[in-house]
Amino acid sequence: MTLLAHDHVVIVGAGLAGWRSVEELRRHGFEGRITLVGDEVDPPYDRPPLSKQVLAGAWPLTHTLLATPEKIDVARLELRLGVGARHLDVANLTVTLENDDVIEGTHVIIATGARARRLPWHQDSFFELRSLRDVRRLIARLDELSAGDVVAVVGGGFIGAEVATALQRRGLRPVVLEADDLPLSRVLGSTVAQWLGDLPERSGVELRARQRLAGAHYDDAGDVDVLFDDGTTLRARALVAGVGAQANVEWLADSGLRLDNGVVVDSNQLGAPRVGAVGDVASFPWSDGTHVRIEHWQVATDHAGALVRHWMSGESSPRLIPYFWSDQYGQKIQVLGHPHPDDDVVRVKETDDVHWLGLYSRADVVSGLVALNQPRALMLSKGLLEHPTTLDDALASAPWGS
Ligand code: FAD
Ligand code: NAP
Repeated sequence: MTLLAHDHVVIVGAGLAGWRSVEELRRHGFEGRITLVGDEVDPPYDRPPLSKQVLAGAWPLTHTLLATPEKIDVARLELRLGVGARHLDVANLTVTLENDDVIEGTHVIIATGARARRLPWHQDSFFELRSLRDVRRLIARLDELSAGDVVAVVGGGFIGAEVATALQRRGLRPVVLEADDLPLSRVLGSTVAQWLGDLPERSGVELRARQRLAGAHYDDAGDVDVLFDDGTTLRARALVAGVGAQANVEWLADSGLRLDNGVVVDSNQLGAPRVGAVGDVASFPWSDGTHVRIEHWQVATDHAGALVRHWMSGESSPRLIPYFWSDQYGQKIQVLGHPHPDDDVVRVKETDDVHWLGLYSRADVVSGLVALNQPRALMLSKGLLEHPTTLDDALASAPWGS
């Protein structure tokens, strides 16, 4: 099935994956109509800088814009912003919006991403960080604070670490409250989490482990007493929660698509013959026979490329090699592949405590790479994941260089 000039692709979700889908369609020569529907009022923008340069005060919000007016024009895009989709009819390929408008397509791309997970104790006064709206609201509060003021950061994962780093750059005193023994152990495994364990302290950020939020009391000035399940409290001038994300699939509940944590798709990103799903919302097949949902920037870009290539040429893309980076506590962490937290891991190319490459392996086959401040070594080693490579062969060939 090739997309033709009389086709109309309706894309729901105007984030990175939705915008990349637009770009890929035009790059591959699609001449037909493209409608992009988004519930946010802002045109597509990039989220990674929100918790880094923007929050630290180094970039204006405008630097995050992906879809400039010129690019929207060149892409001949019909853009419907500020209104969400509430229903998809897979058989008729129609999307119904919150305002009851119905858009008829010939193909639909679901790119509705994920939203910040909320704790049972969530209050409107909590700050979270997923959108431009969230970062505007948080910065407005931070601008009221003084140097050295305490900000509670609940969750020591990616958002927590990056927010703490940015707050410190603003002269504030973040206190990171992590539920687990060590941050990132659920994602990177306990060994790598230990290797990274002293990064907060090295940079002068206080991290408190095994601190599970139990509630929060605000006063009229917006200051907060944060309560923990062990009975301890922390007085702070703001509370930022970064406790995970969940896929935006509720609007698809009666669509007939298979939903399991996200939209279940095949290796071409298809949930139905003319319906694809890309980015954070897509649960895609992995080499071990399971389906995975990976909430990272490069995966959203790769999914959009794979789906459009398939629709334009019938070709399937090679299995993607997931990649992500995180800038936290003044260091750069990068991961290639999708290692399981239980995989074995060895450190190579180690020059000191903050410059090393780690090789994950499962049943003696390399399953992933993690680098701390070793970007070149990581990229030189990508080939280890392109074909099954034993750990012994990897260590013997040492593509990361001396
Ligand atoms: P999203 O970006 O979530 O976009 C989905 C869009 O769909 C949103 O605009 C949403 O409002 C909209 N939507 C939802 N429901 C509907 C509906 N029913 N109708 C219409 N529209 C709807 N990844 C990295 O690899 N490295 C990083 O350093 C990094 N930093 C990050 C920092 C922050 C603060 C955040 C939040 C994420 C970061 N990520 C990072 C993750 C990366 O940004 C995401 O993987 C990426 O944004 C996923 O793109 P997406 O388009 O699938 O989803
Ligand atoms: P995350 O990486 O899943 O981290 C959430 C953290 O909060 C975990 O450490 C979790 O501990 C902890 N937590 C959960 N419940 C808690 C509680 N009640 N009290 C204290 N801590 C608690 O999610 P995130 O950092 O919120 O990120 C959200 C999304 O943004 C993800 O999609 C992420 O990929 C994306 N993002 C990515 C980057 C990047 O790649 N650089 C940067 C920012 C954001 P447990 O592990 O024990 O549950």
